[in-house]
Amino acid sequence: MDSSNSTVETIAVVNFLLESSCCYRCIIRFLGIQVPENEKAYRKPREYLNTLLDDHKTVNPEDNNSDESVAKRSKPNICPVCLDCFEQKTAERIVSNFASLSIKDYEYKTFIFNVSFPKCLAIRAHGMLLHLKKHFPDYKFKNLYEKEKEGDIVIEPPHKIFRSSAGEIISKAINKQYHPKSNLSLLITIGYENDNLEVNNMKNIFKIKSSRKNQIETSRNNINEYLKGLDDQTFKNNFPVPPQVPNIEVQLEKVDITAEPIYLGGRYFKFKRTIGQTPWVINGVSLAPHNVEEIIFDAVTNVLRFNKKYMTFSSSGREDVDVRMLGSGRPFYIKVDNPKNRNISLEQIQEIEKQIIKSELVAVIKLQVVHPSDLVRIKHGEETKRKTYRGLCKTTAPNIKDVISKINAQKELTISQLTVMRVLHRRTLMTRKREIPIISAAEIPGQSNLFELEIVTQAGTYVKEFVHGDFERTVPSVSSIVGYPTDLVALDCVNIDLVWPEAPDT
Ligand SMILES: [Zn+2]
Repeated sequence: MDSSNSTVETIAVVNFLLESSCCYRCIIRFLGIQVPENEKAYRKPREYLNTLLDDHKTVNPEDNNSDESVAKRSKPNICPVCLDCFEQKTAERIVSNFASLSIKDYEYKTFIFNVSFPKCLAIRAHGMLLHLKKHFPDYKFKNLYEKEKEGDIVIEPPHKIFRSSAGEIISKAINKQYHPKSNLSLLITIGYENDNLEVNNMKNIFKIKSSRKNQIETSRNNINEYLKGLDDQTFKNNFPVPPQVPNIEVQLEKVDITAEPIYLGGRYFKFKRTIGQTPWVINGVSLAPHNVEEIIFDAVTNVLRFNKKYMTFSSSGREDVDVRMLGSGRPFYIKVDNPKNRNISLEQIQEIEKQIIKSELVAVIKLQVVHPSDLVRIKHGEETKRKTYRGLCKTTAPNIKDVISKINAQKELTISQLTVMRVLHRRTLMTRKREIPIISAAEIPGQSNLFELEIVTQAGTYVKEFVHGDFERTVPSVSSIVGYPTDLVALDCVNIDLVWPEAPDT
């Protein structure tokens, strides 16, 4: 407490607030007691106030104002400042409704919670503060909204007080420990029937003060902002000072439960040329019977019981439906929103990998839980990392040996690729320079118009077009190098130059 307020004055303020039907915690709040330094005061407010009054009585036995301890007085009404939101009995009433919540399905040891209070709480506190200022003009009440300098009295925001009064009660009811860094969070909304009615006059003030006349919203933030700059007379013209003692209790409106997403990362292989990476659906009709995403999601759902609608798939680039993904696999991750469980065992990971490989279409290696901070690398890698492809090519050139030597004579090619025909509908028309640092060809014994091609490409290169030339939109191309029309028969992606996920194999 600020030293500029004498104990005699403080006792007078306490008594005044008691007579105004304020609850103990609201009284302590108006004295400027801060939660972090004195949480016990808010957990045991009656004890705190009794000690304050008793100590004073011992020191000043003649002081008539402190002849009665708080404990002997009973508060007959609902608190006009917090609507009893800070009372433990209200917290108990609120948590008695928790049984029907799905929170028991969340296998978490810890939780964090926040509270959305009725909007009128800020107005009621402001009204009481004006009432106090009028009766105690010399007492150092600081405004409700900002700490100006060290030592100022700051009236604690309601969520902090609620946390210290209701935290243990909620923790017990849901059998989880409060932890500020928990991945599971509850947003408790406390409703009050007269709330809109009581804040309605705020709209009149907004109309006068707001430059954005069409956007008059009485949100919590708006109300706090306007109260900050509001002159006392305007407030008194619109709201009761002191705030009226309410006759309706607050109620639990709802509880929103959210768990932080988890991410599973790994590398996938695609063994068949008939499956896509993600579902390929046009007008509700699936155009490919299977896809990588679906096969991985099915296995994850089977093993971890996550709901597929909460999962999203991302990868470092993608291959076409008819391109296999071999070699070291393609880095990918799945995001699971609102997971009910985040303790994933090694056995479960291995079981997921086992189920995926059973499909004979897809395999996954290095599957593991990855940290959100690692995800940026996979996205960045998509734009920067080299890829290695191996393809079977067909050419109309008459001499295959000549074809092989022409290709193998190329070194560190730079090509110009005008937006390729097949993506013209979704990409800007422009020419892009792409590096092909390595290109090599090899004969296939007994074949006079087929050969094997291996290339390393800069991210973003369209490989098929680099081979057939895309009506001379890609220059040079394998076709132009060979001097005869040449095309791919089959293509595999065999390496993506990105170490990800970083951790060792599971
Ligand atoms: Zn109160």
